[in-house]
Amino acid sequence: MDGMTAHEDGLPALVRLLAGGGVAVLSGAGLSTESGIPDYRGPDGIRRHRAPMTYQEFLAGEPARRRYWARSHAGRAVIAGARPNVGHLAVARLRAAGPLSAVITQNVDGLHRAAGTADAVELHGGLDRVICLGCAAVSPRAELDERLAVLNPAFRDAGSRLNPDGDVELPEDLVASFVVADCTRCGGVLKPDVVFFGESVPKDRVELCYRLVDEARALLVLGSSLTVMSGLRFVRHTAKSGKPVAIVNRGTTRADALAALRLDRPLGETLTALAAHLGA
Ligand SMILES: [Zn+2]
Repeated sequence: MDGMTAHEDGLPALVRLLAGGGVAVLSGAGLSTESGIPDYRGPDGIRRHRAPMTYQEFLAGEPARRRYWARSHAGRAVIAGARPNVGHLAVARLRAAGPLSAVITQNVDGLHRAAGTADAVELHGGLDRVICLGCAAVSPRAELDERLAVLNPAFRDAGSRLNPDGDVELPEDLVASFVVADCTRCGGVLKPDVVFFGESVPKDRVELCYRLVDEARALLVLGSSLTVMSGLRFVRHTAKSGKPVAIVNRGTTRADALAALRLDRPLGETLTALAAHLGA
């Protein structure tokens, strides 16, 4: 594997793989760190920050939901202000130019679409919209942001450490005084339209991803340590089908043993070079 991980040797092999076309991408948090959105795990694989709120905790009661929304509201400006980096832009060019047949992302930041990959499949949903657990209505997060700002006039961005799911650490008194907004149609509980830890990805979305992976000739993993099964299963499925898996990630991943090509390189720089080599 030494030769595969070296800059000089890995990139030409990746160029050859993509030159054949029909490559599906599975991207993760490592692709968005250059946009200022932190990853839960660093290259050492050790978890940073606190553990994210689980679906079960969110459903369990009003105090947990107040904590979630208070933190999310405080971290909102950073997420809403995040812009695609050169990695997202290179992926968009490679998708438009032909080498990439599909883009599936585990990220909820919307940056693939913002970069121009309009048909990127958001496996874990998106932070730019909200779903009602009562009537299932989906509405723009911007609409809720305005309502939360009105309901919490004294609330200021008091957080310090932004987490990948778009929230921050907040003092308890600020959390306790936060006013949560309910669905304007039915009064139901609002939840960001993202898949929480402990929650299943909607079945039709999983099936779509399997179809995109089946139609592809190879799978390219970008910036994910593949710690969660919801993404890892597509890598295992591809490898089991006898198709090549390539991984570009800082640090080890759970699928390194399955990869035909493994590059431990910075995402933005690597993808920009890849697109340039392929004339995208
Ligand atoms: Zn509702």
